[in-house]
Amino acid sequence: MEEKLPRCALVGRPNVGKSTLFNRLTGRRHALVEDMPGVTRDRKYGHCEWNGQTFEVVDTGGLEPTTDDYILSAMRRQTQFAIEEADFVLVIVDARHGVISEDLEIINELRRQGKPFFLLVNKVDGPNQEALAAEFYESGLEKIYPISATHGAGVGDMLDDLLAEMTQAEMELPDAAEVVDATDGLPRIAVIGKPNAGKSTLINHLLGEERLLTMPEAGTTRDAIDVQIERDGKEYLFIDTAGIRRKKYIKERVEQLSINQSLNALDRCDVALFLVDATEGITEQDTKVAGFAHNKGRAVIIVVNKWDLMPKGQEAMKAFEEDLRYKMKYLSYAPIVFCSALTGARIQRLFQLIDKVYESFRFRIPTGELNRFFTEMMRYHPPPVYKRRPVKFYYITQIMVGPPTFLISANQPDAAHVTYQRFIMNSLRAEFGYEGVPIKLVFRRHH
Ligand code: GDP
Ligand code: GDP
Repeated sequence: MEEKLPRCALVGRPNVGKSTLFNRLTGRRHALVEDMPGVTRDRKYGHCEWNGQTFEVVDTGGLEPTTDDYILSAMRRQTQFAIEEADFVLVIVDARHGVISEDLEIINELRRQGKPFFLLVNKVDGPNQEALAAEFYESGLEKIYPISATHGAGVGDMLDDLLAEMTQAEMELPDAAEVVDATDGLPRIAVIGKPNAGKSTLINHLLGEERLLTMPEAGTTRDAIDVQIERDGKEYLFIDTAGIRRKKYIKERVEQLSINQSLNALDRCDVALFLVDATEGITEQDTKVAGFAHNKGRAVIIVVNKWDLMPKGQEAMKAFEEDLRYKMKYLSYAPIVFCSALTGARIQRLFQLIDKVYESFRFRIPTGELNRFFTEMMRYHPPPVYKRRPVKFYYITQIMVGPPTFLISANQPDAAHVTYQRFIMNSLRAEFGYEGVPIKLVFRRHH
């Protein structure tokens, strides 16, 4: 286990530059940042390394003063969470707007709780901005840092002071070299599927707290968020792609972004939970995402969600499954679970499947067993003749796990017909399990 790092939370209204600063501090460059007020965000965690020392940075949602009360109160709760969890808080304001009442609300709250904080005045990079920043000193606050999150100006000085304050407050700051990423080696589970399928609801259910915001209207995805989840004594890293919601008026872009997120999450995961909305049946977008999932060679579990809204009994499940299998032929190896992220029905079953499928994904067949299997197969089901020449497969090696990949040496490497390849995969599957996992075959000429 990782030792507990001091935690520093970034708080402030939307669009002041929290995300930009988070990326700068943690060295992440993949997060998309756009000039889009009204975007809500969940908590993101990362490590910041400075002068050989490390602490944890948390990017919170923020306050949304202009839109509806639902978001506003949800965001306040997020900020509150962060304040309670953090050892130190960086309050960020936009130099162009000054300290407004919501900022003061946060500052007063921090003072009331005796939580150490700095005030960062961001976006001090345009003409006359230095002068603007000076105004903040008149607000009677100490420890004001003019910075530019995009260019990095002022950030280093601020970090020097931050580390000094943390050390003074006797917070343990381990050397960067001693800090290992605690999530290394955990099963990585991506939650993918079209907007509104229930991805956030599922993660919320697993977390048992309001870390991700779900909203009743169709939302989407921008920034994937990793959440560590412990269940029955085991740990998992969930890659959630539903972290960001935005308004409908840019729906097309949002759908593209949501698909890109699914692709990114697929690149980083071992097992993909592919959520489909039972009430909508299998749509074109579902089959598209299923295709990506298959091509990426990840383990897949098909999660038919919102089953609480469907007719009871086996009949409905059977009919749904038939339609699904018909429309998603290439995911034939993926197990299906009918569940409800809302009520929690069959989530236990889902976890059993995750464990099983993850194990398959990482499973290496002992060489002796693999060779016995291969010899038998060649004896009873040899490959068909190709271009009037007999095809010979000499030996098989498992060259990779995750996904299981097998190399077969042959006298004519391109002679293995798709049908025969499928036969080999099915035989491997029948013999060794490999539930939920695509199997890859590579053929090489034997010299
Ligand atoms: P958040 O909502 O607080 O996380 O804000 P973002 O990090 O998403 O930033 C909102 C907008 O402000 C984006 O367009 C950023 O490019 C821009 N921005 C962030 N930091 C700076 C900065 O230091 N200078 C300037 N000029 N723009 C910035
Ligand atoms: P996401 O866009 O995939 O993250 O979807 P959300 O988690 O935001 O869910 C979209 C809507 O579907 C919300 O109104 C949820 O309350 C609802 N929902 C999600 N899962 C279920 C479920 O299992 N049953 C029912 N009845 N509603 C659900």
